[in-house]
Amino acid sequence: MKYENSIKFGSLSKLGFGAMRFPKKDNGEIDQQQVNAMIKAAYDAGVNYYDTAYVYGGGASEKALGEALKQFPRDSFFLADKHPFYNLKNNEQRDEFFNTSLERCGVDYFDFYLMYAVNRENAHGLLDYDMIKWADEKKKQGKIRFLGFSMHDTNDLLKELLALYDWDFVQIQYNYLDIDGEPGTAGYEELVKRNIPIIIMEPLKGGVLANIPEHLCKPFKDLGISNQEMAFRWIAGKQGIMTVLSGMSDMAQTTDNLNIFSDLKPLGEGELKAINQVRENIIGAQKVGCTGCGYCSGCPMGIDIPAAFKAWNTKAMNDRSNWISGTDIDADSISKCIACGKCASHCPQKIDIPEKLKELLAYYGK
Ligand code: SF4
Ligand code: SF4
Repeated sequence: MKYENSIKFGSLSKLGFGAMRFPKKDNGEIDQQQVNAMIKAAYDAGVNYYDTAYVYGGGASEKALGEALKQFPRDSFFLADKHPFYNLKNNEQRDEFFNTSLERCGVDYFDFYLMYAVNRENAHGLLDYDMIKWADEKKKQGKIRFLGFSMHDTNDLLKELLALYDWDFVQIQYNYLDIDGEPGTAGYEELVKRNIPIIIMEPLKGGVLANIPEHLCKPFKDLGISNQEMAFRWIAGKQGIMTVLSGMSDMAQTTDNLNIFSDLKPLGEGELKAINQVRENIIGAQKVGCTGCGYCSGCPMGIDIPAAFKAWNTKAMNDRSNWISGTDIDADSISKCIACGKCASHCPQKIDIPEKLKELLAYYGK
């Protein structure tokens, strides 16, 4: 694995190990032995960026990752963690959350530290609790080396956040299907223009770009290249991309990712054409341009909107088959929608959610 990223942080691997989908045993606990082996395989192949968060698995991810990383000298990898600032009730908790993360990971500093999942609704928490000043102080104390934030919200919010501080890096969702969404290409270009290193999350759009139905990804099949490789090469080759996170959940996936990143070739003209074709195929087959960001959560009727849209898109994309896993909807719950519009006002994709839910019910014959 080549170290291709030498921005201001040192040599970062292009592939980052996301610790949000660790394998579990039958009893529901993380399989530490398997995690140790996966992390060792990644480390030995040159992966040196490891990403967790206070909230992943209620703290289990931090503990498992910290345990696995004990195999290696602390200064030989970069550890990223994230503060759940939106759960703060008072100033004291800023340190409590941070110290808990350090303790769970078994380290005394974080290389990369993020304000986690900032959105329009929770962003005031950054100001209410003076989070940026607090984090800047941690930088001065050597507890945080580089400070950033992660978000899936609009580009207006992205610009507002960028105006608050001289961030060392920013983490966004971006992949070849999300070019027209937000942040999308416009947000990505804003960061490149400002010379801010970018970390990518959801390069496979939560698995959608890995599990493309066969009739939609034929252009990739014709080239003999896997869906995953196309998505990774599309994003990893872009200017300003520091690291691409992949939430690896077993050894096979880890090995596959390592193979792809061990020889990251730039996309040729034919491959770019194939990606454009597959994008069009997916968009044409999908029923709704939902990215699954979850900003519409909190429906007063308890409707799980992203889950319903994901099931609908999966069903529509696979329409040739009789039954495909993950396509069931909770029609009783969805039919309780009172069209209050609370959800739609938060949707960065500007989806008319109540209207789309009606269409969805009709599609399912409900
Ligand atoms: S419009 Fe429907 S789905 Fe959206 S918040 Fe209101 S009740 Fe829930
Ligand atoms: S409907 Fe909109 S806000 Fe809700 S998950 Fe989808 S894209 Fe996000």
